Amino acid sequence: MELLKNKIVEEGIVLSDTVLKVDTFLNHQMDPFLMQEMGKEFAAYFADAGITKVVTIESSGIAPAIMAALHLEVPMIFARKRKSLTLQDGLLTAKVYSFTKQEENEISIADKFISEDDTVLIIDDFLANGQAAFGLMELVKQANAKVAGIGIVIEKAFQDGGKQLREQGVNVYSLARVSSLADNKVTFATEQIE
Ligand code: 5GP
Repeated sequence: MELLKNKIVEEGIVLSDTVLKVDTFLNHQMDPFLMQEMGKEFAAYFADAGITKVVTIESSGIAPAIMAALHLEVPMIFARKRKSLTLQDGLLTAKVYSFTKQEENEISIADKFISEDDTVLIIDDFLANGQAAFGLMELVKQANAKVAGIGIVIEKAFQDGGKQLREQGVNVYSLARVSSLADNKVTFATEQIE
């Protein structure tokens, strides 16, 4: 998606060979117009997949996910990273090791929000080693619902998550695929993955 790639080139900060900072439009300050366009793009790609729910993980997945849900005209649910006092029984839970925080979180969704009749689109901001995606898939599996695919804003194609998910037959659609962050530079993958 050209609009996103341009934004990454103009505003992204390469923190290391593996970490990209995009806090001017996605991870802290958010660009609502870009979020809306990304939501439209996800909705168009998954238009015929019979999606009934969009699922993401707090916090940076929420904006692209709500926009995708808006355009698909379905509800959006975000998995919580900490148990809240009001969220105790009836939970779907999975453990996720956070790439950026280097700590393990338990993520959870109230089981009343996903049922076996649901076809779920999972959305997240970044795809690195796939931990968040696999954790979210686990929650959907616990609900006996179906995963239609995964929509990612920025996939770091030099890390293993995308490969592992696609090898398992998961339809992963990334709006921007970064092939390298070496030499302080963002390089995009040129090959198309459908
Ligand atoms: P994974 O679970 O695929 O290993 O990592 C994805 C999660 O880690 C995303 O939810 C995102 O929050 C965070 N993440 C991974 N890599 C990056 C990165 O390069 N920059 C930022 N800002 N977040 C990242």
